[in-house]
Amino acid sequence: MDMVLETLGMTEETLDPQDWADVQALSHRVIDDAVDYLRDVRDRPVWREMPADVRDVFTAPLPRSPSPLAAVYDEVSRTVMSYPMGNIHPRFWSWYMGSSNFAGALGDFLAAIQGSNLGGGNHAAGLMDSQVVNWCKQMLGFPASAGGTLVSGGSMANIIGLTVARNVKAGIDVREHGVAAIEKPLRFYGSDQIHSCHRKAMEALGLGNRALHRIPTDAGLRMDIAALRAAIAEDRAAGFKPACVIGTAGTVNTGAIDDLRALAKLAHEEDLWFHVDGCIGALIAIAPENAHRVAGIEWADSVALDPHKWLHAPFEVGCALVRDAVAHRKTFAVTPEYLESTPRGLASGEWLHDYGLQTSRGFRALKVWMALKEHGADKFGRLIDQNIAQADYLAGLIEAEPELELAALPTINIVCFRYQPGLAGEAPKALNTEIMLRLQEEGIAALSDTTVHGQHWLRVAITNHRTRREDLDLLVRQVTRLGRQIAAEHPASF
Ligand SMILES: *Cc1c(COP(=O)(O)O)cnc(C)c1O
Repeated sequence: MDMVLETLGMTEETLDPQDWADVQALSHRVIDDAVDYLRDVRDRPVWREMPADVRDVFTAPLPRSPSPLAAVYDEVSRTVMSYPMGNIHPRFWSWYMGSSNFAGALGDFLAAIQGSNLGGGNHAAGLMDSQVVNWCKQMLGFPASAGGTLVSGGSMANIIGLTVARNVKAGIDVREHGVAAIEKPLRFYGSDQIHSCHRKAMEALGLGNRALHRIPTDAGLRMDIAALRAAIAEDRAAGFKPACVIGTAGTVNTGAIDDLRALAKLAHEEDLWFHVDGCIGALIAIAPENAHRVAGIEWADSVALDPHKWLHAPFEVGCALVRDAVAHRKTFAVTPEYLESTPRGLASGEWLHDYGLQTSRGFRALKVWMALKEHGADKFGRLIDQNIAQADYLAGLIEAEPELELAALPTINIVCFRYQPGLAGEAPKALNTEIMLRLQEEGIAALSDTTVHGQHWLRVAITNHRTRREDLDLLVRQVTRLGRQIAAEHPASF
């Protein structure tokens, strides 16, 4: 048969290589390069601007004919691998990201090689997916009976929790009748420091941005509990239905942690759902020195956490936990009960797509599983403590440097400060923005900036297992050098 097809010029094609030995040799080179890449990350700039010829690669049209895989790899190596975002570098402290790890990278590779779809079914990857969710429950002190799911990241994990909250508190069958049928408009509450993903969630849930009531914060940027209580009473009196309070365990601006115990108690008294955005801080629960800071998180009805932050999993992986597993499934399940499982075979496993919005799901669990097995959860806890101690160390350096000003003592691993040689008005913002940009362009360090208490600050978020104290010493030296240099270049402005 094959011979007949071949003589007719109709051989069937495949994406598999023609020469497996060739691919094996190339793969060894890719792995060797990858290991070198990680080993030497400290010697490279954190970030650098792409030259025009590199940018041009990404406007090339659709390739219609083949290229040898070795040539494809060489192009990726010259372009993508040479111009990274930089978040695996020891001096990357922008926004809030993890710094990845090698076992996790191998996990992503092997997950892709096996190619399993984690929509569900009876296979080993499905069991591992559930196991990693169970490990997340254990890390946070959540009951084993809770529900949960791995998702793309913290934003999706928050949407999962808030969707269950909406459906449970709506008083009607929202899945069937939609939000328009809800009798009294629902109100959700979070602090004025709440992450922007919650606004998107409120919009996507059909409740609208205004349904998220922003509660003022105290001097430490934690939600003001008395103000929350008053807002709930006012909303009730005005005919709204208070439905959910969102506590933040680690705000993105300054790392402030809301009083989770007080919020849990208040939510219980007021019959509200208690959701915790723990994308930054939930995992502090495994850090021996600092776990006390997130006490009360185990009382939440739902929590969003982010293994691609403080567990350093390669992007993407987030996790939503929901105390009431039945309510969780009822919010998303579309598998009729009679199809739930066959007694044997591939379809006898659980349908994991019944716990979220995706149908097909990637094998995110493997990268988390392999890194936790290799290092043990205790080490991840110590690394969290280490980052928090480093933030404290940096704050000390800033306080000892007269040209620098600290916004406030850090709560956890986020430090806000500025170069401030006695300037007023808008000058500090312009000068500090220029310092931030030059630190990036010179490849020294990546910081970001923010506004705290109405003022502009540089912001250092140390979620990085490669950072050493010497990197923070260098940061302080370089910021003061650049501050003086820029001020000297523009004597009239500064
Ligand atoms: C990072 C973050 C998010 C969003 O998580 P992603 O993983 O980026 O989607 C939400 N809330 C807080 C507090 C965060 O720090």
